Amino acid sequence: MTSSTLNGRYAPLIILALLAALVIVLALWATDRASTADDMQAVSTGQVGDKSRQYHWKIVTTWPKNFPGLGTAAENFAEMIAEMSDGRLTARVYGAGEIVPAFEVFDAVSQGVADAGHGAAYYWKGKIPSSVFFTAVPFGMTAQEMNGWFAHGGGLELWREAYAPSNLIPMAGGSTGVQMAGWFNKEINSVEDLKGLKMRIPGLAGEVFTAVGGTSVRIPGGELYTSLQTGVVDAAEWVGPYNDLALGLYQVAEYYYYPGWHEPGAMLEFIVNKQSFEALPPDLQAMVTITSRAANQMMLDEYTARNNAALRQLVDEHGVKLRRLPDDVLLALSRASEQAMQDLVARDPMAAKIYVSFKEFYDGVRAYHHISEQAYINARDLAFEDGE
Ligand code: CA
Repeated sequence: MTSSTLNGRYAPLIILALLAALVIVLALWATDRASTADDMQAVSTGQVGDKSRQYHWKIVTTWPKNFPGLGTAAENFAEMIAEMSDGRLTARVYGAGEIVPAFEVFDAVSQGVADAGHGAAYYWKGKIPSSVFFTAVPFGMTAQEMNGWFAHGGGLELWREAYAPSNLIPMAGGSTGVQMAGWFNKEINSVEDLKGLKMRIPGLAGEVFTAVGGTSVRIPGGELYTSLQTGVVDAAEWVGPYNDLALGLYQVAEYYYYPGWHEPGAMLEFIVNKQSFEALPPDLQAMVTITSRAANQMMLDEYTARNNAALRQLVDEHGVKLRRLPDDVLLALSRASEQAMQDLVARDPMAAKIYVSFKEFYDGVRAYHHISEQAYINARDLAFEDGE
């Protein structure tokens, strides 16, 4: 039997097989055309996750419009997301009071009045007591340590769990680094000097301040200057030199105290309405996540770059009296902070759950930073003082 006889005998079968293959190819082509038509339908009706659709977000913030430092994160986010997505996702940023007042940002985003918000988690401690963990714990973690806990210590997952019932997805939205202890109109030489003082100081630190004999008040940044000027408060903490200079607080208070025991690495937050986020196609969702992370780092970079020049201006040009809180005051505040944390953990199950994760990460990173960051800064100061 030769190959030519084989070809001759099976020729009809080969032709049949070729015809069958042609039918299959035509059928696949027709199916593909049909699904392309479905896609076109999706485009025209603007279905969820549509890559050819443009999305426009409203971002509400707890800061005055165009406010330096804290206010830059939402603006940076809006600028970057529009550029990265080639205009497929744009956002307009509204300052406090433009759509909703500062302290209604959480509800506005939760209810979908806005798609996203920028503020600080501890402003919502009346609704979610455990939210204080995600901004600042007195005598807690620095910016670098907080970022580590969010990204690799389970912090971000716990934050999402705490906000899920409110229809919100939280993301880290910038850090101020170590803040200043605040503005006072008298010297603080002992804990006695804090007694009877009415101070703008939010979060768990507000409870600490009350425990040592003061009164804490929650006031948004935009009203801080007037509150100090008119005597609504005797003292106020805001952020640090760069932001406090911008707010003009040196005009209404004489003494500027450090260190910011109450906010060692205050984290800001982006909150995104769950439906607004889920309506985006996956690539835009990824851009939102990455862009917020970039904006988070950019804020810390800016404070690192600008704080010292602002402090020099406050002291040298405006005559601000810079003071360090005495050790016994810091120790008393530290003991009261531990008690406030234990009280919070005892009354709120979510706070108790978060505390386990926070404390484990804190203990580890504190031990390591004792022999790395802290030991290095001490060594650098030794060399610096030696050279003086
Ligand atoms: Ca602050």
